[in-house]
Amino acid sequence: MKYVYGPVRSRRLGFSLGVSTVPYKVCSFDCVYCQLRETTRKTMQRKSYIRVSDIVGELRTFFARQPKGMPLDYVTFSGAGEPTLHSGIGRLILAVHQMTDVPVVVITNSSTLVRPDVRRDISAADVVIPSLDAVTQDVFEKIDRPLRGLGVKDVVGGLKRFRKMFSGRLWLEIMLVRGVNDSPAYLKLMEKTVRQIAPDRVQIVAPARPPSQSWVKVPTKTTLKTAKKIFGRDCDIIC
Ligand code: SF4
Repeated sequence: MKYVYGPVRSRRLGFSLGVSTVPYKVCSFDCVYCQLRETTRKTMQRKSYIRVSDIVGELRTFFARQPKGMPLDYVTFSGAGEPTLHSGIGRLILAVHQMTDVPVVVITNSSTLVRPDVRRDISAADVVIPSLDAVTQDVFEKIDRPLRGLGVKDVVGGLKRFRKMFSGRLWLEIMLVRGVNDSPAYLKLMEKTVRQIAPDRVQIVAPARPPSQSWVKVPTKTTLKTAKKIFGRDCDIIC
């Protein structure tokens, strides 16, 4: 299989079948903490990077051959780039719903939520995990290194609009990088914005695998405890 992988076990999602919708490192960001190395094609262009029928074919094969009793908690659209850049992700989510009752998750860097078509497409998922690592443009550019012209205010606006129309579960992920976005003052600033977005949960994560940039350091335990205090009881520390 080229586009469907797993199931892989993760702390957040249990046993999850991964679906990759874009080729390696087609992404609108080039995050300093990315475990996949540097972005090779930085873009916001939405298109059918991989034929929908090829991905659906692999999903059908998986479900036809899935051994009885194999645990599967989620089907997750993520992979080696930004999955929502695939213009057919809405059709792919619906195809999974037709094949199985297993809930569908979309993991996104949130950049494309500025677009109404993306918000509509992924609202068919059961869970959406968007990330938000910064609420000011300088930190956004330092940590996520987005495509030129992409403003963090627009991304936050897209998240708010999506929250209003999405009836599934929204788990907002924040990656903390030591010395970049983890000071108590910055965490408080983020919490203010996050409260306006109103996700169901906030998940604080730290770089766990070798990052794209060698200077990236994980936050201290004290910082993680502070973050938990600031974001409150709807926040999980996942490190
Ligand atoms: S958004 Fe995800 S895939 Fe893209 S650079 Fe960041 S961590 Fe890597």
